[in-house]
Amino acid sequence: MSYLGESIPKLGFGLMRLPRLEDGETIDIEQVKQMVDTFLEAGGTYFDTARAYGESENAIRQALVERYPRESFQLATKNAAWIGPKSYEDARKDFDISIENTGAGYFDFYLIHNTGGARTKVFDDLEMWDFVKQLKADGRVKHIGFSHHDSAAVLEEVIKAHPEMEFVQLQVNWADWDNANTQSRKCVEVARKHGLPVIIMEPVRGGTLANPPEAVAEILHEGHPDWTHVEWAIRFALGTEGLITMLSGMSSLEQMEQNIATWKAWEPLNADEAAVLDRARAKLDEMLDNPCTNCQYCMKACPKDIKIAPVMEALNRRGMYGDANGKNWYGFQTSNGGKASECIQCFSCEAACPQHIEIVGKLEKAVELLCE
Ligand code: SF4
Ligand code: SF4
Repeated sequence: MSYLGESIPKLGFGLMRLPRLEDGETIDIEQVKQMVDTFLEAGGTYFDTARAYGESENAIRQALVERYPRESFQLATKNAAWIGPKSYEDARKDFDISIENTGAGYFDFYLIHNTGGARTKVFDDLEMWDFVKQLKADGRVKHIGFSHHDSAAVLEEVIKAHPEMEFVQLQVNWADWDNANTQSRKCVEVARKHGLPVIIMEPVRGGTLANPPEAVAEILHEGHPDWTHVEWAIRFALGTEGLITMLSGMSSLEQMEQNIATWKAWEPLNADEAAVLDRARAKLDEMLDNPCTNCQYCMKACPKDIKIAPVMEALNRRGMYGDANGKNWYGFQTSNGGKASECIQCFSCEAACPQHIEIVGKLEKAVELLCE
């Protein structure tokens, strides 16, 4: 099934985690060129970069744009005006910088990057929605949409406020399908209710589902001894309704070849296979630190605007995927304030929590375990 009048294969090349040279910093351009060649030879055409992905835009100019006819691929990039602070002019200049970095001339897909939290207001205040509409009207981009990292309710608000958006990019993977914070299933349902097709990101959850906790790995292995963990993740994500394409952030030629093989052999999961993922999901849930449902009633009661629900999620991620994952999530979510250490222990949040979570104690735990 094709969407937006474009014929786009279901495996897209996400350019966030490109291979690095031994210094761990410099992108391995020669390997990226090999990956691009392999991807195009296999029939792939969709590439997804962003201003926020370091040297990714420059790398794809060298590996793709300067080596293949422009009309033989689709290139997407994103505007993250909330990384700043940025002026009205600077937020717009980001588009010109992306054009210069990539040498692409135009973008097939252009995204408002990462709606949700306090970030949506930044896009609103800088009138970025009107800006991307104008880019489309000028023919500098073909399609406009946004990527989203927040609840389904917030997603619906954004969609209703901006009916001109043509698609939405969502985090969808089997582990987050019913997660209280990510709400993959509900987000897909909201997008489809409003007629928006979806692009999937993080089908392997930033790589964490390639190496799940041992107890989860055992469930997957019993279900299909010959499938890798990545194969499970990709097979699940490719079955998403309304899918334009699924972005896999491939970091090596080997990963690319494996992803291509899974994509080419893809069939929908049968009932037994879906049940295996249900069991794996239930096992992950057992590793949760707390039963937070992300209702955010506590945050409405908090005089210090502590990011309580994201902190609860960070503790849960630590339980499921380990220290580094929990710390990364905590750092990302509290980068603009609302840190656990700012709590004045007034206990208003605990009175508001329908799950009766001892929030103050959890915040102390977060300070101890998640803060550098
Ligand atoms: S106890 Fe801390 S987190 Fe809870 S409402 Fe008071 S300041 Fe906010
Ligand atoms: S009120 Fe309780 S369940 Fe709701 S978001 Fe806050 S901590 Fe989570």
